[in-house]
Amino acid sequence: MSTYVVTGAASGIGLVTTEILTGRGHRVLGVDLAGSDIDADLSTAAGRASMVEDVRERTDGRIDAIIACAGLSSPTVATVRVNYYGAIATLEGLRPLLAGSPAPRAVAVASMASLFPPDEELLSLLLDGTEDDAVARAAELAADERAGQIYGTSKRGLALWVRRQAATPEWAGAGIPLNAVAPGIIETPMVTDLIATDEAKAALLQTVPMPLNGIAKPEVVGNLIAWLTGEENTHLCGQVVFVDGGSDAVLRGAST
Ligand code: NAD
Repeated sequence: MSTYVVTGAASGIGLVTTEILTGRGHRVLGVDLAGSDIDADLSTAAGRASMVEDVRERTDGRIDAIIACAGLSSPTVATVRVNYYGAIATLEGLRPLLAGSPAPRAVAVASMASLFPPDEELLSLLLDGTEDDAVARAAELAADERAGQIYGTSKRGLALWVRRQAATPEWAGAGIPLNAVAPGIIETPMVTDLIATDEAKAALLQTVPMPLNGIAKPEVVGNLIAWLTGEENTHLCGQVVFVDGGSDAVLRGAST
């Protein structure tokens, strides 16, 4: 039995992943704003720090896997705080607790929206600037028609952070495969309004083509995360795995 920490565990992909893991006999400590094991607001520094402390206390400082799943899709600064800084604080804050595990693993949940053109200024602030400066840039975007770029840029940043970190001494050097998943459209509360009618669904699939089997259930992502964080994954490292019914293949084609 392994001990997992799953953020965003009260709903959608995080909830279903938790159910898959507990169904296999693992222990899962869920983290969410409310309705899971540990209440924490990952949009704030205080919430991130209290989450790490709570996990440490409840596990005697020893866990086996981190799944940073909590996220928002609203075109607001909170999305930058949770999707990028909250996810990184989760991964970095909990990484020392993996040290005693025989098979430590970590996964971040990015998105196929990371393929959309980012706001380059926000992206470079995420990767090399401060949270305050990135949030200030996101506030500028949120004020006009560029607001829609916030979500995809936050996920592009997270995916690139995983690429940059995975092969470092702190992750691969410490025996920890660090990867990301990039889901397409997944049937969860996050997209309920977007897929409420057949017309809305068809319009969404114009922007996010999913030629293989269309919109997916959260189990599809949960099963992939379970494999990436399981003992079998000894060498998959630094990958952003698109689980998107072919969106990536359509949108990027054969160019990369
Ligand atoms: P969801 O809304 O069902 O679940 C997201 C969870 O994150 C919620 O329980 C929410 O309370 C939690 N959360 C939000 N802000 C938080 C905060 N400040 N602190 C702690 N927890 C917070 O949505 P979902 O679809 O299950 O999303 C899970 C992840 O998958 C997200 O990162 C999302 O961006 C990503 N994703 C979803 C889709 C999709 O189509 N549903 C596609 C690509 C990526």
